[in-house]
Amino acid sequence: MSPAEMPAAVPAGGPLLRVSGLNKSFGDHEVLRHIDLQVDAGKVLALIGPSGSGKTTVLRCLNGLERPDAGTITFDGGPEVTFTPRTRRRQKESLRFRSAMVFQGYNLFPHKTVLQNVIEGPVQVQRRPKAEAIADAEALLDRVGLADKRDQYPHQLSGGQQQRVGIVRALALKPALLLFDEPTSALDPELVGDVLTVIKELAEEGWTMVLVTHELAFAREVADQVVFMDGGVVVEEGPASEVLRQPRRERTQRFVHRLL
Ligand code: ADP
Repeated sequence: MSPAEMPAAVPAGGPLLRVSGLNKSFGDHEVLRHIDLQVDAGKVLALIGPSGSGKTTVLRCLNGLERPDAGTITFDGGPEVTFTPRTRRRQKESLRFRSAMVFQGYNLFPHKTVLQNVIEGPVQVQRRPKAEAIADAEALLDRVGLADKRDQYPHQLSGGQQQRVGIVRALALKPALLLFDEPTSALDPELVGDVLTVIKELAEEGWTMVLVTHELAFAREVADQVVFMDGGVVVEEGPASEVLRQPRRERTQRFVHRLL
């Protein structure tokens, strides 16, 4: 399934997602301060920065898993959600299916088969017909080379295979935007390549993505835009070729030169 088959096609190049003034605290710990971002349709934005800088929290806010204290998240064609301390749960949840998240630790249900994991969201939450969800799941598993694993359980798969199921599970939700949270950081080095190859193919097919990663060489290969965060703020952003090759800010330089 490619983005062209998505119901709400957004013209390539126009903004698919706009985030402005996003703030989030946990207790008195201010984790995000006035985050502004834009992701254009068909583009890949890499979100980089040291551990604890707030990258995962940004993804979780975009996906409706966290409720920001302030700010606006707008997807092309709706919804536009402005957060205040009194924002209702319903508004946060309206963001849920515009994006789908691929988690660092795969987060598969251990007692469900691969196929059951993939169809859970489409059938139970999106209320799509089961036969249709199974057909989509089988096609997606086939394209990541896992058709023969459909009836196996997560513990019977390698980490790389589990993460490819994680990617299929996200695609099965037919989101406008894919969110990747350090998708390879739990994998043994020899398994990283297969997962990165799938992500790269999705980028080449035109999926819009936000990718949190420490794999800066990979980010340089696939990302169009890079945002560098530190201490809950955006320190620098721009085209990947500039931010990863010739960062302007000293903090970015130190980070990038350590990892590349
Ligand atoms: P990153 O992804 O860049 O490593 P995170 O977004 O995971 O950063 O975390 C940013 C900060 O927010 C960290 O200091 C982390 O401890 C804190 N944090 C994240 N989630 C929670 C939570 N649910 N409760 C309290 N603090 C949290």
